[in-house]
Amino acid sequence: MIVRGTLYDAAHKPLISAAQFQRVAQIKTQRNFKKDTKHRMLFRGLLTCADCSTTMTGERQRKHIYYRCHTSGCPNLCIREDRLNEQIERGLKRIQITANDTVELRKRLHSWLHAATPDELTSSVKLRIADATARLDRLTDLLVDGTIDKASYELRKKNTEFELAQLKEQERQMSDQKRSEADLESLLKMSQDLQGMFSSGSRKERRTLLKNCSTAISVRQGKVHIKTADWLKEVVTLSKRPNRTPSDGLLEHSILNRS
Ligand SMILES: [Zn+2]
Repeated sequence: MIVRGTLYDAAHKPLISAAQFQRVAQIKTQRNFKKDTKHRMLFRGLLTCADCSTTMTGERQRKHIYYRCHTSGCPNLCIREDRLNEQIERGLKRIQITANDTVELRKRLHSWLHAATPDELTSSVKLRIADATARLDRLTDLLVDGTIDKASYELRKKNTEFELAQLKEQERQMSDQKRSEADLESLLKMSQDLQGMFSSGSRKERRTLLKNCSTAISVRQGKVHIKTADWLKEVVTLSKRPNRTPSDGLLEHSILNRS
């Protein structure tokens, strides 16, 4: 019997009998199977009926998956998943920004980010951290060789440690800025290739992309309408109007985190 990679002798009574084990295994497969079929509905929970605002549910019928509104009396018809998919791809292609626009926009957004933290400031903070750390080290020597007494040692130590903590906080804020640069890149990458990312993504990635790029996807009589997410609207506006300044919160719409 192997428990956590260690071999135990058979004298230990097995906690689960073979029959029990088989039953558990069976239930597990059934669960996975159920989970899997549910997962196959690509647009599960993402579609609303434009007529009555309820969520449209998917169902498999023979070869196809259909999404329909279950409100009685609602005039909305159902829509087939593959047709829905085509419309969404076309819709995403319409929203996305062009590669040319991206080049310009990247330049502008980068200078916008760097305006907040110039490189000189970054290196100056690093130097001051090194300096304060060295001073802190020297203090002990000064105490040991009797240059300063215990009281002034304690005071200078406290002050230097405080200075160091402040500098490190400043450094941390600047590394946050670096992270926003990575966010900026993924934001731009996504904005210029929504359709490509959607059509080549896994089921999960495609769902994540839709949730990030839209606030609602509604269907009326077989026509799909994608309500664009605010961050994406802003990126599109920025790409068309070079005079606009990005809003502070643009990168906070942590775009790839919503799944
Ligand atoms: Zn409806």
